[in-house]
Amino acid sequence: MPTMGWLTPDMTAHRLWEIPLDALKARGIRAVLLDLDNTLVPWHTQSLDDRTRTWLEGVADAGMTVLLVTNATGERAKELARTLGIRCVPQAGKPLPRGVLRAARELELPPAACAMVGDQLFTDVMAAHWAGCLAVLVDPLDPREMGWTRFVRRLERRLLRRDHRWERKDGDA
Ligand SMILES: [Mg+2]
Repeated sequence: MPTMGWLTPDMTAHRLWEIPLDALKARGIRAVLLDLDNTLVPWHTQSLDDRTRTWLEGVADAGMTVLLVTNATGERAKELARTLGIRCVPQAGKPLPRGVLRAARELELPPAACAMVGDQLFTDVMAAHWAGCLAVLVDPLDPREMGWTRFVRRLERRLLRRDHRWERKDGDA
């Protein structure tokens, strides 16, 4: 059963391009598994920020492989991956670990050498922990969300706040 620890990212950054590559390398990371929507590009778009492009080049220069791991179906993910010259695991089924594990297997890396980067606790972070990867949480690129996702976000924010309270308590002890 997933516990609170499963929803606690190992590392956080506001944007993808703010994730320090030396920190990933220091943790033995050799591949970056990227969520697509609201992490790499704003929700349901193909528009790639120049800072994202530069960061991706930096990842490659640092000797790490990038691979898309997305729950999205269809051609959009594959097309974007092709444009970027990276591999893609679509229909990953996050928070289940299978897509993430498949990515690690394709790269012939142990999951612990992979960082899963995404914007959602209940999909990306949980899948990362479940698969045994480093879990990196970024803020969603596009804050406009509807219905279910908005509900989940509110829950996520509450949980994150609770986490921080626990950290403070730990600090006091
Ligand atoms: Mg996402």
